[in-house]
Amino acid sequence: MSQQMITILGSTGSIGTQTIEVVRAHHPTISFGFLTTNKRVALLAEQVRLTNPFGVVIRDKSLVDEFIQLSDFKGVILTGEEGLCQAAEWERNTIVMSSLIGFSGVLPTLHAIKAGKTIALANKETLVSAGSFIVESAKKHNVQIIAVDSEHSAILQCLLNENTQSIEKLILTASGGPFRNYSNEQLRTVTASQALKHPNWEMGAKITIDSATLMNKGFEMIEAMWLFDVKPSNIEVVVHPQSIIHSMVQFVDGSIKAQLGLPDMKLPIHYALTFPERRYSNFERMDWKKISTLTFEQPDTQRFPCLQLAYSAMERGGTSTAILNAANEIAVAEFLAGRIGFCDIPRIIEETMGKISTVDSPTLDDIISADQTARSQAMTLAQAITNSMTIL
Ligand code: MG
Repeated sequence: MSQQMITILGSTGSIGTQTIEVVRAHHPTISFGFLTTNKRVALLAEQVRLTNPFGVVIRDKSLVDEFIQLSDFKGVILTGEEGLCQAAEWERNTIVMSSLIGFSGVLPTLHAIKAGKTIALANKETLVSAGSFIVESAKKHNVQIIAVDSEHSAILQCLLNENTQSIEKLILTASGGPFRNYSNEQLRTVTASQALKHPNWEMGAKITIDSATLMNKGFEMIEAMWLFDVKPSNIEVVVHPQSIIHSMVQFVDGSIKAQLGLPDMKLPIHYALTFPERRYSNFERMDWKKISTLTFEQPDTQRFPCLQLAYSAMERGGTSTAILNAANEIAVAEFLAGRIGFCDIPRIIEETMGKISTVDSPTLDDIISADQTARSQAMTLAQAITNSMTIL
């Protein structure tokens, strides 16, 4: 087998660390190109010892000295966003795992696509904010984007050997998050630490909050629209609290295919690395004696308005999904810092979307500027809420 080389953008995050585990355990023919971190240099030093990569990127330049003290790494050290873009497009990469958080994934992912690298995409905000560019650019450079998100990996598997013309509907399953049965009253007082306890999945802080608000599912609808080229009206969300069915495809004859498995991100990561083939893994197997029921219910957009906000942005198109994403990034960060309440998250996003006009056929600069304007607007709204809470 020819030598494969993986660069992991965001190697110290949840998907990044699991990717390293999967590659080391199951993919002996894959070598490590670049590993990258924003600030977690201690973990990066440990990863370097385990994987012996060609190079690293430390986004926050001020932490390079600390990394050098912690590690005797002799490879290349790059910094900043330029460093991430260089690592993404490095000539020897054969696959790039895009697992940065939020809008920061857009430019490095575009660089990897332009260099013709296969993309394993875990950073959904890249498609939410700049879907049209990513998809067009991937077509132009004949690049395959393999979804790592469990729902999209499920859909990809359901669509193997199917004609995309015969898709009637994509059905995304949602766990419903930790507050699925909470009343409006209860939702008003939930704290960040309560929201960080997801019932089924172990994930980073930002995506865990997005799962609690259902914005994560809203983002996944937008991601599905771009990846599988379907209309918003042909995407449905069903709450399935056990997270065993990872998603489904309904075809024009009325038949439905589903992909099932235990909720473990290592499975879609492994599949992205072997796609379209399957290879052995030693991951835990389903024990049907422990699972007696699979249940389904409708999402409640009255208690979880983020899902509806995402749907509206997806239908509106243009820069509106970039505005949605930017306002959400700010609102989630402010909630995690304890400065606003859980129910302020959708309020800030809705107001931000109402205040900024959408550009219909945006350039990349339009998207970057929509992102920045939305961030400062959302921050102003969040600060007003924080100040009013302090006065009370
Ligand atoms: Mg998902």
